[in-house]
Amino acid sequence: MVRDAYNRPVKDLRISVTDRCNFRCTYCMPMEEYVWIDRREILTFEEITRLARLFVGLGVEKIRITGGEPLVRKDLHRLVRMLNSLDGELDLCLTTNSSLLCDQIEDLAAAGLKRINVSIDTLDPEKFKQITKRGDLEKVLEGLFAAKSAGLGPIKINAVIERGLNDDDIVPLVEFAREHGFSMRFIEYMDVGNANNWISERIVSKKEILEKINARYPLREVGRENGSAPSVDYEFIDGGGELGVIASVTEPFCSSCTRARLTADGKLVTCLFSTHGHDLKSLMRSGATDEQLVELISSVWSNRTDKYSDERLAAMKSPEGYQPKQHQKIEMITLGG
Ligand code: SAM
Ligand code: SF4
Ligand code: SF4
Repeated sequence: MVRDAYNRPVKDLRISVTDRCNFRCTYCMPMEEYVWIDRREILTFEEITRLARLFVGLGVEKIRITGGEPLVRKDLHRLVRMLNSLDGELDLCLTTNSSLLCDQIEDLAAAGLKRINVSIDTLDPEKFKQITKRGDLEKVLEGLFAAKSAGLGPIKINAVIERGLNDDDIVPLVEFAREHGFSMRFIEYMDVGNANNWISERIVSKKEILEKINARYPLREVGRENGSAPSVDYEFIDGGGELGVIASVTEPFCSSCTRARLTADGKLVTCLFSTHGHDLKSLMRSGATDEQLVELISSVWSNRTDKYSDERLAAMKSPEGYQPKQHQKIEMITLGG
């Protein structure tokens, strides 16, 4: 097992299968057009599976398929089947906006997908349109319930909370999740990429999120799954299920971060806030052996010193404050959220 400079192993791999998306969520992809990755540079499913196999050999136990919007990639179920066949024990999940899920869920479930996270920031159709620019809440909910009918579980609902936009949606989302047996994951608004004009005043902290929920539905802390998951989990005292909060800004968890990212064009990225990736695709396409690829991955990971969110919090508390625009980062759609 390979460990980084702070003794963190690599246990999770997030694979971005495309940088494209059919939504334009204001906090993620606010512009209409981007410089898209050239199609010839996008890894094939065979190339992704080969790299995933090498990561599993290095200790990866969990793979999340993401993007961009992963379901805009044609025949994604083929990749799910290929990844599933790597290791029966592999925890394989998908994060999606769910707008295209209805038509694909049967194939995905048949290919072995078990877990899914669906992003829904509000249950108000008008506000949903305002946040996603191109999204239709009804279609998204259809996809969500289709996943439930297909027997996928647990189904988690991701919601990014932004002050003045959807902080009043926290309790309605909790009630919806409790009623239908889903599990909420509230995410603090982060300064991912360079385009989302993030300001710290728009963060709704984990503390505030929990206060709002606790006032209606008292909670008990359960902790982090496996000690290293981004989410701190809570259960409802009345037995109504559980939820999690991902406090990347106010309570960073870099010291236990075991996540590597693979971009759609085959770059290994060691942090959500990285400025660059390490090109595995060129090495692979130049005919490298598995040993040579493993050597590059191991050397990148063993030199990893990332702890961006810890450093952001320290800067936010300093007299100078934190200046997000001073840091050029890779866009989240490119590196895989
Ligand atoms: N398109 C898929 C989706 O929306 O679920 C997968 C990719 S998306 C980048 C993955 C997750 O990142 C989503 O749950 C989204 O809400 C979250 N995300 C995007 N921008 C964010 C931001 N600025 N702060 C916090 N979370 C963000
Ligand atoms: Fe697309 Fe997901 Fe980003 Fe929204 S959060 S723009 S759905 S990639
Ligand atoms: Fe991991 Fe980077 Fe996030 Fe810290 S900031 S938890 S190192 S991805």
